[in-house]
Amino acid sequence: MRLILLGPPGAGKGTQAKLISKKYNIPQVSTGDILRKAVADKIPLGIKAKSYMDAGSLVPDDVVIGIIEGRLRDGDCKTGYILDGFPRTTAQAEALNINLKKMGADIDHVIDINVDSDELLKRLTGRRTCRKCGEGFHLTFNPPKKEGICDKCGGELYQRDDDKEDTILRRFKVYQEQSAQLKGYYSKNGRFHSVKGTGTVEDIFNKIVSVLGA
Ligand code: AMP
Repeated sequence: MRLILLGPPGAGKGTQAKLISKKYNIPQVSTGDILRKAVADKIPLGIKAKSYMDAGSLVPDDVVIGIIEGRLRDGDCKTGYILDGFPRTTAQAEALNINLKKMGADIDHVIDINVDSDELLKRLTGRRTCRKCGEGFHLTFNPPKKEGICDKCGGELYQRDDDKEDTILRRFKVYQEQSAQLKGYYSKNGRFHSVKGTGTVEDIFNKIVSVLGA
């Protein structure tokens, strides 16, 4: 199963992608996670991407398209994958189409998770991420057992630079201007589904499973 998750920053794409990955045994391919790791490892890709990410802007298309093309060739993507945070522009969607054709593959489902912007702001400002394993927490909705410490691996929790209020507002704007139109792009075929991203993580996951099938 090949799946694309669409939605604004904070809609819960990463959280749902992890649950889908576990249930259907396919990898989560998150361009945001790949870029954050490259920044932490200080490799050339990360050095190039950092200033865009810190500013809440999109990393240039050619850079992310190159990342995805490489990642989708990995062995674990043979039986399927969940694209989380890619594509984010029409140019990226078109590059993905070309790449899929080359590989003789197709996207089975596109799921858009929609949440209104007041709720998104609340979610993003409270978000904390583990520096070591990337696990996500929320100060109000999903607090760690011990303040500042990851329940899963004991790593330090931090607030992503791009989860600070100014940058979040910029990311919303970028989403509206460059990514929201992908809903229209993908709704032209029958594989597009819109899911309301409010309620508990489990409620949202159940709605997604009813789209994907057990
Ligand atoms: P995310 O974790 O998906 O919210 O991504 C964090 C940041 O990484 C974004 O604000 C962008 O700067 C960058 N990024 C992630 N995915 C993409 C993409 N598909 N195209 C351009 N930039 C991206």
